Amino acid sequence: MTFLQCYDILKFASGTAYKTYKDEGYILSKTWTVKEILDWTRDYFKGAGVERSRLEAEQLLAYTLEIDRIQLYMDPDRPLDEKELDNFRPLVKERKSGQPLQYITGQVSFMGLSLKVDERVLIPRPETEEMTEEILGEFRDNEGVKVLDLGTGSGAIAIALARFLVEPTISAVDKSPEALELAKENAQLNNLEKEIDFKQSDWFSEVTGNYDVIVSNPPYVPSSKLKELKPKIKYHEPQEALDGGDEGLQEIKNILNQVEDFLSPDGTVFLEIGHDQGEDVKDYAAAQNLQDVRLIEDSRGKDRILCGSKEA
Ligand code: GLN
Repeated sequence: MTFLQCYDILKFASGTAYKTYKDEGYILSKTWTVKEILDWTRDYFKGAGVERSRLEAEQLLAYTLEIDRIQLYMDPDRPLDEKELDNFRPLVKERKSGQPLQYITGQVSFMGLSLKVDERVLIPRPETEEMTEEILGEFRDNEGVKVLDLGTGSGAIAIALARFLVEPTISAVDKSPEALELAKENAQLNNLEKEIDFKQSDWFSEVTGNYDVIVSNPPYVPSSKLKELKPKIKYHEPQEALDGGDEGLQEIKNILNQVEDFLSPDGTVFLEIGHDQGEDVKDYAAAQNLQDVRLIEDSRGKDRILCGSKEA
C-alpha cells in the first residue's frame, strides 16, 4: 500500500477525504471509484468482524447510490461524488458499530418480495423462508386455504402466503401493536392489504375460527442463551421476538397447548424451532394429540420445522 493509499483510508474513515483534498489543493488527484470503495469497505468490515463483509459492502453501497447491486459490477470505475461519499460514510460506521444491515437500509427481501424492517420486528431469516416454501409446496394447488400466522412480526410469512397461494384466506396476529403497524405497511407495499386480516392478539387470545394451516416463528432462544447471540441480534432485534424462556420452549408449548382447538380437521401446524429442540418439541406435540408429527430439516441439515396435524 502506498503512502497516498494509506492517507486516503485515514481520510475516508475520519470523514474528511474530499474536503481535505480540496483544501490542500489535491483536487481530484484521488477520487474513490466504486471498486475502490467496495474493497476498502470490505476490509474495514472484515476487521470489525462483519461476517459477509463483501456482500454487505455491496448492499450498502448499492443502497446509497440507489442502484441494483449488479450495477456496481457493470461500472466499477464509476467515481463517487462528494455527496455520495457523505451519504455512505455514516452508514458504514453504523454497520461497523453493530447495527444490522437490514435495519440501516430498512429493507429485506423475503421470498423475492420486498419488505420494510426496523427495530420493531425481527429480521426475517432464510430458515423462515424455508418454512414458508414448505407450506407452499404442500398447499400450492389447493384453492382457498385458510391460514393463521401467529406472531407475524414484519408480516413476512402472511404476505408471502397471500402472494403465492391460490385465493387463500389469511389472518395474521401479533401481540405488538408496533409490529402490526409495520406488517400492515408491508402488506400495502405488496398490494396485499385486502388479502390479510391483521389483528392484535397474544397468540390465540383474540383468535376465532379454524384454520387449515397455522404457522408461527415464535421466540425460541433459551433466556440463558440470549447473551450469547451475536451483538447485531442481541442489541438491536426485539428481545420479545427471540426470548423463549427456559430451554426456549415456553412459547412453542403455549402454542401447542391450544393449537388443536384452532385447527380444521386435517389442518396442519408449522412451527419454526431451534436446531436442538426437535425431539422435545416432537414429543410435546404428540402429547397434545397431534397426528403425523414430524420434523423438517433446514438447508443446513438442522431440525428446524415441526409439523403436526389434527385428526381428520
Ligand atoms: N433464528 C433466530 C436467531 O437465533 C431465532 C428466531 C426466533 O427465536 N424465532 O437468530
